[in-house]
Amino acid sequence: MKQAARFAAPALALLLTIAAMPARAQQDPGLERFRAIYKELVETNTTLSSGDCTLAARRMAAHLKDAGYPESDLRIFVPEGHPKEGGLLAELHGSDPQAKAILMLAHVDVVEAKREDWTRDPFTLIEEGGYFYGRGTADMKAQAAIWVDNLIRFREEGFHPKRTIKLALTCGEETNSALNGAGWLAKNERAAIDAAFAITEGVDGDLDDQGHKLDLQILAAEKTSQNYQLESTNRGGHSSRPVADNAIYHLVRAVDRISHYEFPVQLDDASRAYFAGMAKVLGGENGAAMLAVLKNPQDAAAVAILDKNVNWHAMLRTTCVATMLSAGHATNALPQRARANINCRIFPGDSLESVRATLLKLVDDPAVSVTVPEIRGPIATPAPLTPQVLKPVEQVAAQLWPGVPVIPTLEPGATDAQFLNPAGIPTYGVDGFFVDPDGGNIHGLNERIRVTSVYEGRTFLYRLIQIYANQ
Ligand SMILES: [Zn+2]
Repeated sequence: MKQAARFAAPALALLLTIAAMPARAQQDPGLERFRAIYKELVETNTTLSSGDCTLAARRMAAHLKDAGYPESDLRIFVPEGHPKEGGLLAELHGSDPQAKAILMLAHVDVVEAKREDWTRDPFTLIEEGGYFYGRGTADMKAQAAIWVDNLIRFREEGFHPKRTIKLALTCGEETNSALNGAGWLAKNERAAIDAAFAITEGVDGDLDDQGHKLDLQILAAEKTSQNYQLESTNRGGHSSRPVADNAIYHLVRAVDRISHYEFPVQLDDASRAYFAGMAKVLGGENGAAMLAVLKNPQDAAAVAILDKNVNWHAMLRTTCVATMLSAGHATNALPQRARANINCRIFPGDSLESVRATLLKLVDDPAVSVTVPEIRGPIATPAPLTPQVLKPVEQVAAQLWPGVPVIPTLEPGATDAQFLNPAGIPTYGVDGFFVDPDGGNIHGLNERIRVTSVYEGRTFLYRLIQIYANQ
């Protein structure tokens, strides 16, 4: 509406111009500009090994400056000792000083990608067969580019929101050992990102095999990733004279016992809402099992049906899995040391210590220690899914995709919400991108996202933020 009004005066000239434009640009003259920002962001390598988030942040800041944002509302932040892991803070001021801001949050770093493994160059945005290909096209440079595009459009259109709209582009979400930008901001720049709530990535809309839209998900809770180290040490000796007391044997028995264990089934508000919503979408045996588990989480038959799906299995409980092993020092020596990394995904409400206690009990061997090698962040706390947050998502989804249900969910993985929720900024994941059943192979080879998904998501997030900003 506002776009059309801007161009209303030279009506005839506009009509002639429109007739000559491609169909996509006709509907929205800002689309090509958005695509250029998205392309630039994808083509800025932001891997930890050879990329530069600070450069990506500077490039995005330049677009905002061009759009008229004063320097005082744009800030590049660079954590000390991490020159390439910086980010951007920007804001569009609200008219009501009493109204709390809302925060558009996105990480701009990406998972490593090796050119020789990929079919196409991972750091070139390639449009092919209805898809955008490239590292970060889905996770999460589309949403990051939309946040920048939103701020440009809002300013251009003279949008004066009630609340201040804040933008934070950060680095270090994808690599556990890296400095996490959102965590750094929560600790060092808490006031700068203060907001009633934040919107970021996490879950998408689902498409079926035929490309039909099934549901749009919104992330309202997530599990916490925590590593535990199992270690067995021994005096060792010559392998020609073996003894029963062997560090590797102690360790593998302990790992084996962990492999057979399932943590008890649990539900929280987000997973309850998810299973209730998905039961309606899916029906059949799975739908019936979801309803049965909602009624009785200890219904073993129903749990067994849901456990066949790796996502549902992970949503129902804390999980722990062996991810790395190292042991021994020579092929002809009895091992002096054997170690395993156990990666646990802790269900909201469980604690780091209670999971360690369970592992110790399973290990059941004084020759094997269970320690916590590092703590990345606080245990995730769920964000309450209030009508203030949920209703606008439902409203815009109903405009764009009538009949497609909005379904809250608990994410077995983790996002930057793990740093903002404990800092008192409830953080939700929603993007309006509908993705194929394989999720676009994010983090993997040939990452991709449907072109229409990105463009529809852009419209969705533009309208959503406008509604939030005027609440
Ligand atoms: Zn991501």
